[in-house]
Amino acid sequence: MTQEVETRIRSSVDAMFEREIAFLSELTAHPSTRGNEQQAQDFMAREMAGRGLSVDRWQIDLDEIRGQPGFSPVVGDYQDAVNVVGTHASRSRKGRSLILNGHIDVVPEGPHDMWDSPPYAPRVDDGWLYGRGAGDMKAGLAANLFALDALREIGLVPGADVHVQSVVEEECTGNGALACLQRGYRADAALIPEPFSETLVTAQVGVIWFQVHLKGVPAHVAYAGSGANAIEAAIPLIEALHAMEERWNAPELRHGDYHHVHHPLNLNIGRIEGGDWTSSVPAWCVFDVRMGVFPGQDLAEACREIEEVLRAAAHNSVFLRNNQPEVVYNGFMAEGYALSQDRSLQARDAVGALGGAHERVTGHALDTAAITATTDARFFGLYADTPAMVYGPRAEGIHGFNERVELESLRRVTQTTALFIAEWCGLEDA
Ligand SMILES: [Zn+2]
Repeated sequence: MTQEVETRIRSSVDAMFEREIAFLSELTAHPSTRGNEQQAQDFMAREMAGRGLSVDRWQIDLDEIRGQPGFSPVVGDYQDAVNVVGTHASRSRKGRSLILNGHIDVVPEGPHDMWDSPPYAPRVDDGWLYGRGAGDMKAGLAANLFALDALREIGLVPGADVHVQSVVEEECTGNGALACLQRGYRADAALIPEPFSETLVTAQVGVIWFQVHLKGVPAHVAYAGSGANAIEAAIPLIEALHAMEERWNAPELRHGDYHHVHHPLNLNIGRIEGGDWTSSVPAWCVFDVRMGVFPGQDLAEACREIEEVLRAAAHNSVFLRNNQPEVVYNGFMAEGYALSQDRSLQARDAVGALGGAHERVTGHALDTAAITATTDARFFGLYADTPAMVYGPRAEGIHGFNERVELESLRRVTQTTALFIAEWCGLEDA
């Protein structure tokens, strides 16, 4: 790419940036929590079609993906789970193809009174755009589309096929990205602009979600002590799980990419429910757990150990000895993934091209990080032999209150993405 083309591409991103912010605001205004993504997906499909991409919009069919590697178990059906993919078909196909992936689902916003302004009324203040999902990861979805827009605006399109994916279910299973694979979408590389501060993610942990169900016989509080209390019985189980968490984090067990990360595998009790009445001994309790695993750690073995830990802890409780806890897997059954271990020429080239683009835009070498969360990158990397690069803008408060994305960072990521596309896919006249 000549200096002149590079300058034109970057100026084109600048010229369209106000429109990109308006697009991000409108997208963030759709409260696309799990089960409510359809409106936002309609918006994405319209925007893609308006750009001349050929749009594929479909409802995920559980039966089609259930047997696929990487599938995560779910409760209920998928009637409201709709994926959208917009494809640019190149005439010359002289370059390397690309998937630009982003997830449309956002995590629940929590109590609105904890927010300084309503989570679905996006606002710009002092260079930041606020709103649930603004950073994680609607800014990324905007960067994907506006990188292509910036090229088209100066009469250029990618010289290879590009699939722009807007998927559901990233925050609970990843089955949206899996459904794209199952439908046949493949490319020579994938880019996922999750909000990691313009750092390239070189390793991500895996995640297991499970519920622990405790059930017994209810009694009047006058006749039963705490030994028969399903809610209190959960406490030693939670302690035992945390002890397991500490063992799994032992320095000698750490995956190479995580040697310098203090506590990479986190166990979180995310929800708890139980009991029916203040003066009745609760006969039931259910708690939801999220646990991390390292890249390469076997999921089936991890599940066996979790169940063994619970069984052993249950042995010490009067309630649990007579009412064994039941473990139900309903959500993430996600392996870890390390791009750093992909030694292919393709991966080296893709990282080199992204790093070059990043350096031209920011003036700094591309930093890398091993993250303690999961992303949809694992599907491309583990099950489709496709190097998957997670690289996106700086955001704060994701999964918290007052979520926000830094607009100058978004501008740089859009420029970097456009330059990366030009390098990786090549260019042809629109
Ligand atoms: Zn995300």
